[in-house]
Amino acid sequence: MPDDLPPNSPKGQHPNTGAHFATRMSHGGRAGTRVHGFVNPPVHRGSTVLYPSCAERGSINARSLEQVMTYGTAGGPTHFALENMIAEIEGGSRALIVGTGLAACTLPLMAYLNAGDHSLVPDSVYGPTRRISDGMLKRMGVETTYYDPQIDAAGLQALMRPNTKVVYAESPGSHTFEMQDIPALADVAHAQGAKLIMDNTWGIHHFQPFTKGVDVSVQALTKYVGGHSDVLLGSITVNTPEDWAIIAGAAREVGHYASPDDCWLALRGLRTLAVRLKAQEAAGLAVARWLDGRPEVLRVMHPAMGSHPQHALWKRDFTGACSLFGVVFDPRYTVRQIDAFVDGLSLFGIGASWGGYESLALPTTNYITRTATRLDVLEGPTVRFHIGLEDTADLVADLEAGLDALPR
Ligand SMILES: *Cc1c(COP(=O)(O)O)cnc(C)c1O
Repeated sequence: MPDDLPPNSPKGQHPNTGAHFATRMSHGGRAGTRVHGFVNPPVHRGSTVLYPSCAERGSINARSLEQVMTYGTAGGPTHFALENMIAEIEGGSRALIVGTGLAACTLPLMAYLNAGDHSLVPDSVYGPTRRISDGMLKRMGVETTYYDPQIDAAGLQALMRPNTKVVYAESPGSHTFEMQDIPALADVAHAQGAKLIMDNTWGIHHFQPFTKGVDVSVQALTKYVGGHSDVLLGSITVNTPEDWAIIAGAAREVGHYASPDDCWLALRGLRTLAVRLKAQEAAGLAVARWLDGRPEVLRVMHPAMGSHPQHALWKRDFTGACSLFGVVFDPRYTVRQIDAFVDGLSLFGIGASWGGYESLALPTTNYITRTATRLDVLEGPTVRFHIGLEDTADLVADLEAGLDALPR
């Protein structure tokens, strides 16, 4: 490692020695005493990297899979500090930072799938991931079958084809929050040599993908890692040198890159991630339970609540929850009435994304696509809630006033 690379703790030791999550988020990826004594690594911006001789420039090519600085697109110290932190959060060996969460979802699909291949994607997948499967991947000769996110091993086995190279998973599913039996899916995929790629954005560190059979784990760092609704980034984490070569090679072919300024913001977000997540997990559950007790609400879709149909899977595989969940309102209300309720809230913003410090409410009825399963989720109008860092009592009062104003 070149000397100007920030070490991962003030004393220059990698902190992954059994310390708790909050401690590791505080001590990882720091500059220590190397940068004039400043705690944090600086933002290293750059395209050209200079070498003292042609021979040294030439010798670097053989080390392209290492964290060496060859050119801006290959990353610099700010990228590498964040990559190391994300790899550690997910329990993988290497992580790659890309410009958006969506880029993190799409790059592994492009990397592992060839013309004539087949992939299996859950019907509850993040919408834009469905878009590339039906768009660019299809155009390039890759066929996608959407499957019921609640499928069991036998069901997935029945959908596997000789050319199935990727099983994609996302647990819980976008907008509808179905939990998936990841270890069971992994067994089926691996029996045939297929890769299991998982979108772990909801899980963050509460789901450890590589102990559950996942080969490639992607996250939108835009969400809780950024944490302040001011940065877009994605991560792709793997746990073998072979997978790293495939992912890093594909990123280089396509030209993926993330701004070091954004990596710096994500590193800053990581310092408070543990405390934010803990507070937001508790607040999210409190608001979800309160909503569950209201007569206007048919059901709440929160995997950490006992009423969730796959709560047992969450309990088995996750160590916690984030503060994103869905609500199905009573079918006696129209989408227009629920839209008016959301419009009337004063503390909940209306908008995409989540994981920031501010609460959001997003009507989702028209965002849910199903091609393999029935739209059972739509007994009534649906709203996705993200609970931020406001006082829970204020959020509940805001919701209460809105619900009380709905027709009886
Ligand atoms: C937001 C999100 C993404 C994409 O992240 P962007 O940074 O907005 O591109 C991917 N997967 C899931 C589950 C998401 O919620």
